[in-house]
Amino acid sequence: MKPDTRIVHAGRHPERFDGAVSTPVYRCSTILSDSVADLKARNKAKFDAVSYGRTGTPITMDLEAAVAELEGGARAIATSSGLAAIAGALTALLSAGDHLLVTDSAYFPTRRFCDTVLTRFGVEVEYYDPLIGGDIARLIRPNTRVVFTEAPGSLTFEMQDIPAIAEAAHAAGALVVNDNTWATPLLFRSFEKGVDLSLHAGTKYIVGHSDAMLGLIVCRTAELFERVKTCVGTFGYSLSGDDAFLALRGLRTLSVRLARHQDSALDIARWLQNHTDVARVMFPALPEDPGHAVWKRDFLGCSGLMGVELRPAPVAAMEAMLDALELFGLGYSWGGFESLAIPTSGSIQRTATPWSAAGPTIRLHIGLEDVDDLKADLERGFAAFRAAAA
Ligand SMILES: *Cc1c(COP(=O)(O)O)cnc(C)c1O
Repeated sequence: MKPDTRIVHAGRHPERFDGAVSTPVYRCSTILSDSVADLKARNKAKFDAVSYGRTGTPITMDLEAAVAELEGGARAIATSSGLAAIAGALTALLSAGDHLLVTDSAYFPTRRFCDTVLTRFGVEVEYYDPLIGGDIARLIRPNTRVVFTEAPGSLTFEMQDIPAIAEAAHAAGALVVNDNTWATPLLFRSFEKGVDLSLHAGTKYIVGHSDAMLGLIVCRTAELFERVKTCVGTFGYSLSGDDAFLALRGLRTLSVRLARHQDSALDIARWLQNHTDVARVMFPALPEDPGHAVWKRDFLGCSGLMGVELRPAPVAAMEAMLDALELFGLGYSWGGFESLAIPTSGSIQRTATPWSAAGPTIRLHIGLEDVDDLKADLERGFAAFRAAAA
């Protein structure tokens, strides 16, 4: 089956639900058993039976099965947010005395979790140059358990050579955990590229409509699933039936939405690249991007999120630009049907490698609106930028 067919059929069981095409919402804490024997059997079946709301219901399980099948992992674990997936996965794999390598381009709340929680529990956290590739071998120690990757990088969009990093990590017995939110299960085939745990802020493209929070941990093997699910379950992380329903509903159209995000984002990225008020577009799908070769080799397409460095001007001019936008909303998150913009100047945190931009920086999410309308909106912003920069 091709991915576009799988996405329609994965995790669906109409025969179990009187023929309903989509799994109905389960709202429950208590699950009643017929007998003590049944209660015991459910407990014994552990992760495969419905026994209590927190541990999973048919709708959260169908979501997990659909995403695992799409990405090609053994099993998946749904959590209440992307950050919970990151925290849960890292906590499951790391103990006091372990060493963790994290890309310097990681999503900021990932860094904050590592620096404030993992360090408090005795994990040694070290950041590395996102462009390190196979040279990561030099940083791997006998106690390195996990190498954390994210491509492209949050806010700065560097590509990482994940297969080379995975080869070095595996040679030393370390696991590779990848934040695959930008590419979704469709555009980066994590497990074919050496990833052991693929994490998603399903809040973004999988939900796709900016109306629910969701995290997913997709596990390469059943053993990893067992280990991570046990820890995540012990912490009490779970997902509500309503949010699982919205996620499954979003998932069915992920492929067609992504195709449109890709076309519009590429069009706008090319247009921005030639704009006199723009110094640089950070988007690996552009042939001029330094990460383009790796992206082309490893990814099956691009989504709609990019970084833009404006020409040198006061930050206030960039803020005037964002304030002038009418179609691009000003807000966090991305991956929904609508276009968004945020300022990123001053938000980019680095400790292993320097990062600088001569001009102010923003992040754009290109939604499903008409591209010409979006360009007109950005032009409105650039006019305000020029007026404020003058
Ligand atoms: C948004 C985001 C997350 C966190 O997801 P939430 O659902 O907001 O907790 C993790 N990683 C990346 C790359 C993100 O953009």
